[in-house]
Amino acid sequence: MAFASTIGERVATLRAHVDRVAEAAGRPAGSVVILGVTKTQPRDAVLAAIDAGLTNIGENYLQEAREKYVDLPPVTRHFIGHVQTNKAKAIVGLFDVVQSIDRLEAGLAIGKAARALGRTVRVLVQVNVSPSERFGVAPAGAAQLAQALRNEGLTVDGVMAIGPLEGDVDGAFALAQEAFGAVGGTTLSLGMSADWERAIAFGSTMIRIGTAIFGARPAPERVTV
Ligand SMILES: *Cc1c(COP(=O)(O)O)cnc(C)c1O
Repeated sequence: MAFASTIGERVATLRAHVDRVAEAAGRPAGSVVILGVTKTQPRDAVLAAIDAGLTNIGENYLQEAREKYVDLPPVTRHFIGHVQTNKAKAIVGLFDVVQSIDRLEAGLAIGKAARALGRTVRVLVQVNVSPSERFGVAPAGAAQLAQALRNEGLTVDGVMAIGPLEGDVDGAFALAQEAFGAVGGTTLSLGMSADWERAIAFGSTMIRIGTAIFGARPAPERVTV
């Protein structure tokens, strides 16, 4: 299948490139996880990426994951979209990691749903470092939010942030790195197709890649939320 081989080639090329950049930053090859962002992509594309060796995949839209994320080979599934508290049970049912906890209520809802379903879920604190982003806790409030979440029994494993579309990428990534230091944990989820190389320079341990693996997405107005 041409589709599968293209995705497989892109994953292999990206993996090699990421390892070179990590090594240039003084970090071992394999130390940066590639999270395949599957939004708007069909299930076949998701399976092709897993077949190519990706062990972490992510979705922004619960509705899409309902169709695509069932009966997959063993991979870690990350929710990277905005958490609506009334969708917490469905999110916990479909995902292993919720990267987008940006307020206490969202964390409480996820924790409650996890207890009700008897599941363990890891969370990251989403920090807002970009004027172009709507969501995320202010960097100065990240450590306090993480502490409040931990007090509620949640496993907070680090920070997720989205860089700016334009402007001071390095400044934004430095804020994310600093927030990660304050929050603690093992994961700094930072960097996308256009800016992952800089993100690795700022300590990213997980880059979230859509376009560079799956190709261009349809125009935003056709995306179903
Ligand atoms: C879409 C998306 C990505 C991937 O973006 P690309 O530029 O296609 O790599 C990563 N993170 C989040 C939160 C996203 O919404």
